[in-house]
Amino acid sequence: MAFEQEKEVAVAAATAAAIVCEKVRATMVPEAIEKKDKSPVTVADFGAQAVVCKALMESFPTDPVVGEEDAAELKAPEMVERLKQVTSYVQEVIPEASPDEVTRWIDHGNGAVANRYWTLDPIDGTKGFLRKDQYAVALAMVADGEIKVGVLACPALTLELKGGSATGILFVAVRGEGATMQAIDGGTPETIKVTSSEDKAHFRFVESVESGHGDQSLQSAIAQAAGVTTESMRMDSQAKYGAVASGNAVLYLRLPSPKYPGYQEKIWDHAAGVIVVEEAGGRVTDMYGETLDFSKADRLSTTGVVVSNGEIHDKVLAALKAAG
Ligand code: AMP
Ligand code: MG
Repeated sequence: MAFEQEKEVAVAAATAAAIVCEKVRATMVPEAIEKKDKSPVTVADFGAQAVVCKALMESFPTDPVVGEEDAAELKAPEMVERLKQVTSYVQEVIPEASPDEVTRWIDHGNGAVANRYWTLDPIDGTKGFLRKDQYAVALAMVADGEIKVGVLACPALTLELKGGSATGILFVAVRGEGATMQAIDGGTPETIKVTSSEDKAHFRFVESVESGHGDQSLQSAIAQAAGVTTESMRMDSQAKYGAVASGNAVLYLRLPSPKYPGYQEKIWDHAAGVIVVEEAGGRVTDMYGETLDFSKADRLSTTGVVVSNGEIHDKVLAALKAAG
């Protein structure tokens, strides 16, 4: 089996990070700290990045990690108490962690895209996390221009598994070896497949909750044109990729929001989700049918994202072209 160690380390790291995030949600009202770009970050984002980066540093010391967060703001003197708080949550899974180590681990995520690298969104969907809605810990490894391994931990997602319904789902994919889901707190991995367009109960689409992250009116028009006539399911984070990969939806549309024209998608918001959907038999392109290129930079050069069961993909791209 390929990338056995990468998969094992990624699963363990994302699971530990998910435990940290859930502990934060269970024990405090997480407060949004505003970053320079005005987007929110919480103690859980920092804690999750520390936990994942430490694991990657130990197992794959020469692999750069391109993570969403860095510790610069957390190292400021006025943030001492906040850093202590982050450290105490990291200690839930790494009892010996110190504040200095925590900032060092977080800063390990300041790496750059290379021939082989990891990309991490410690909390994808921070706004969902703050609303007590969906969020995901998203981790992927890219090598030779291709995503090889992807892990998505979705602690608030409830899905039907073979053993019954579970809240807290872990999606795992390795290139060429398929995709699985399982309960985060244990259980057997089940192979997942996108659903056929004949499956009318799941012939529906997903999109962001945040109207600033997608053009909801165009998304609804395009879905309609492709034959998906039911109302969208709005969901934060890459849990949307999980919904398509597990056959719970046939389409995920992310078209540039008119509020932020020219927005460039970040690699950590997609890499893990893309491989999970592709290995489940689905297809992912930009809104013009271009492949997403994870080999160049931390921002994608393509526009928008279309994720489908494959079957309806061309129809969606044609609808986009016609709307063009
Ligand atoms: P979602 O939960 O799917 O709405 O996506 C959350 C992600 O959207 C965050 O991790 C941000 O990196 C990303 N994001 C921030 N601003 C925008 C924007 N204007 N358009 C698309 N995505 C964005
Ligand atoms: Mg994100």
